[in-house]
Amino acid sequence: MKTKETSGIILYNRNFREDDKLVKIFTETDGKRMFFVKHARKSQLNSVIQPLTVADFILKINDDGLSYIEDYKEVKLYQHINEDLFKLSYATYIVSLMDAAITDNVADPHLFAFLKKTLDLINDGLDYVILTNISEIQILDRFGVQLNFHECAFCHRVGLPFDFSYKYSGLLCPDHYIRDDHRSHLDPNIPYLLNQFQSIQFDDLKTISIKPEMKEKIRLFIDDLYDNYVGLHLKSKKFIDDLENWGDVMRK
Ligand SMILES: [Zn+2]
Repeated sequence: MKTKETSGIILYNRNFREDDKLVKIFTETDGKRMFFVKHARKSQLNSVIQPLTVADFILKINDDGLSYIEDYKEVKLYQHINEDLFKLSYATYIVSLMDAAITDNVADPHLFAFLKKTLDLINDGLDYVILTNISEIQILDRFGVQLNFHECAFCHRVGLPFDFSYKYSGLLCPDHYIRDDHRSHLDPNIPYLLNQFQSIQFDDLKTISIKPEMKEKIRLFIDDLYDNYVGLHLKSKKFIDDLENWGDVMRK
């Protein structure tokens, strides 16, 4: 057992036995791990083990058995996320997607920083739909899926009205559309934007703005990519899909 001080994000907690809890924390230094909290409801840890809480934890990490939270400081609660059903649902989906993409007990400080920044920006009021799409595209390689949205798979030219080919798992330029009879027939703005999402710097996000019809097209295409390459069915994703349909009815 080793004692570590590290920043961590609570992914979820679940009940265990009578009144204990198991808490999954994505730590900056030691990856995501399960921690045991005894008598959780009466514990002083109760407030800090809620999902989407960020804190500096002092942890007792056991590589062979249960790990424990010894203490914490510098707690950050995402107040604006927690009080908005849409933001909360999208943030919950992003967190469950990252949880699905990474292996237990393997450090991934780059992804940790990415997730924390994404949550910060949702909390600050930036477009949570676009931030979700960026997360979905950037996390693809953690699922072992490497897609190039930058250049034609055949001639490697860039900056053209591209289409996507599942046959070649890449882009086709207008000269090479004919290579795939079943190409996707995408709006060429979609590959253009996905290329931006793949390489985006967070500072650029303050200026990005996408029309609702285009967001809808991006949603459908990313769903298609996930069906074809990842095959993941998260409850939190179904929830945001239902929420959008329900939200549309409300807006009419
Ligand atoms: Zn080409």
